[in-house]
Amino acid sequence: ADTVRLLSSSQVITSVVNVVKELVENSMDAGALSIDVKLENYGLDRIEVRDNGHGIKTADTPVMAVRHFTSKICSHEDLNHLETYGFRGEALGSICAVAEVSITTKTNEDDISTQYMLDLTGHIVSQKPSHLGQGTTVSVLKLFMNLPVRRQYYSSTKKCKDELKKVQDLLMAYAIIKPELRVTLAHNKILLDGFFPKPGADYLSSSSSSQDKTFIFVNNRPVHHKDIMKLLRQHYTAQYEEEATRNRHPILMLKVTVSPSSVDVNLTPDKTQVLLHHKEALLTAVEALLVSLYGFRAT
Ligand code: ADP
Ligand code: MG
Repeated sequence: ADTVRLLSSSQVITSVVNVVKELVENSMDAGALSIDVKLENYGLDRIEVRDNGHGIKTADTPVMAVRHFTSKICSHEDLNHLETYGFRGEALGSICAVAEVSITTKTNEDDISTQYMLDLTGHIVSQKPSHLGQGTTVSVLKLFMNLPVRRQYYSSTKKCKDELKKVQDLLMAYAIIKPELRVTLAHNKILLDGFFPKPGADYLSSSSSSQDKTFIFVNNRPVHHKDIMKLLRQHYTAQYEEEATRNRHPILMLKVTVSPSSVDVNLTPDKTQVLLHHKEALLTAVEALLVSLYGFRAT
């Protein structure tokens, strides 16, 4: 039965964009006016869709993710005037069969939200109180963990980027059809905080190497990171293109905060080298920050 479930589910759930589509449609069916989509590692590590819809009734939660359960149809008659995206009750159950899923939900009748951890068959394995407002949040971890060939297929950089683009297009399309809907998309949430002198500031030193004056912290740990260092220097010195001050070495400081699971600090014994799992996304974010600060693109 496990194999049959995996086979049929893998035909319903074929890609990251497919999961996002099903979850966002469920949110819209629940009357949500606000939907936040978060992806980590292009959705392969985590897809999270949070909405402010009507939530799932406590009585429905035991079967909400069991295949063929739907709260959207009561009779055959209903099929003739469908006003919802979903009606087959197939999406959640199929996603559960190919990933680790949890659902947090609260209706206006519940005092607090509850988070339900689901197994591969969509049944609840455990539950705990949580702190979210009215609505539903579905978290999908390790998509295709039990379909290694498919996971591998979607892991290529090109495929990842294609999928992300498709997710963007999809969300854009829903936002256009439904103008009152607020949709956001975040990929690899990274927090950046920095200290960058304004051009012409006084605290520039002309001595020593640039490295001595550039401080990078990842999750509060001082680290060396060649690529980030290079990017910071590039943007800073680009301002002095034509000037004699070009080889000044300002004090630059950048604090990066990422989820602990996306950084390896054990590369060297002194732990000053870090391996960031989403280096490209981080470099893009750093660059965007520098562009917003210094107002132009140096590279
Ligand atoms: P379908 O959308 O075809 O009904 P799904 O498997 O997508 O089937 O969802 C199963 C059921 O779970 C839905 O019928 C609905 O009752 C509930 N549900 C899923 N997502 C949400 C959500 N975001 N808000 C409220 N209820 C939801
Ligand atoms: Mg659905």
